[in-house]
Amino acid sequence: MSRIAYVNGQYVRHDGAAVHIEDRGYQFADGVYEVIAVHGGRLVDEEGHLDRLAFSLSELEIDWPVAPAALRVILRQVIRRNGVANGIVYIQVTRGVAPRDHAFPADTDSALVVTARRKKPLDRATAERGVSVITIPDIRWKRRDIKSISLLPNVLGKQQAVRAGAFEAWMYDAEDRISEGTSSNAWIVTAGGELVTRQADHAILNGITRRAVLRIAAEQGLTLVERPFTRDEVRQAREAFVTSTTSFVRPVIRMDGAAIGDGRAGELSLRLLDYYFDHMRAQDAAP
Ligand code: PMP
Repeated sequence: MSRIAYVNGQYVRHDGAAVHIEDRGYQFADGVYEVIAVHGGRLVDEEGHLDRLAFSLSELEIDWPVAPAALRVILRQVIRRNGVANGIVYIQVTRGVAPRDHAFPADTDSALVVTARRKKPLDRATAERGVSVITIPDIRWKRRDIKSISLLPNVLGKQQAVRAGAFEAWMYDAEDRISEGTSSNAWIVTAGGELVTRQADHAILNGITRRAVLRIAAEQGLTLVERPFTRDEVRQAREAFVTSTTSFVRPVIRMDGAAIGDGRAGELSLRLLDYYFDHMRAQDAAP
């Protein structure tokens, strides 16, 4: 089965799919994106992702390329045409095609690309092995709450992690506080059992998975604190984990080579992963 992409109004073969050389996404990274997990053929937390897309578009004054209802249809078409039961769907919206000039073009339609691919979801046994992170300075701009396609610092950071044999790079600010990972949110469980993740302000992307886990934790009556935490606090933490659309809840067992807690996937982290699996399954069953 050949892969199919949606590109500006057409379903085309993924192999040959292309956008114009003066697409502002290509020239200025002038665009936004979303990645939504597909589980059991269903979109996970579609509402949250489309709400965040609306927010990103509005902050950058980019028009919807199609009405949200039409986008929902396109997402389902792309998933179906690619036979994706488990995987991800990628949405990218740019300010469109115009002669290169920094200021916004007048009367240019925004551009839409949607792709989907199969991906084996994280399973519990893999999660139980835990992953390691390195830490790097956060060199990004000050509006990380916008899901912009301008990801160069994230790309460079992830590559450093890969070179170090780590899963993720956690970024820290001038006060040594962790903002987030290059493609995930960062969490710790303190020695006292508090669940801590940075509050969602301009410094981080407010992950849809982060929001789901916050809701789950509140329902479970866990002690939750939304505040920044430092690298020193990670060194003293009982557990740590990351959350994202593709990592779900993934225990972190080492930071910069040193064990976190007892160096094994945390009990609370794995419990939250189990609840998150339930959260995804509940959506498979939805009508
Ligand atoms: N932070 C950053 C910088 C990210 O790129 C991502 C993944 N998109 C996340 C956090 C996690 O967000 P989500 O749970 O919506 O995937």
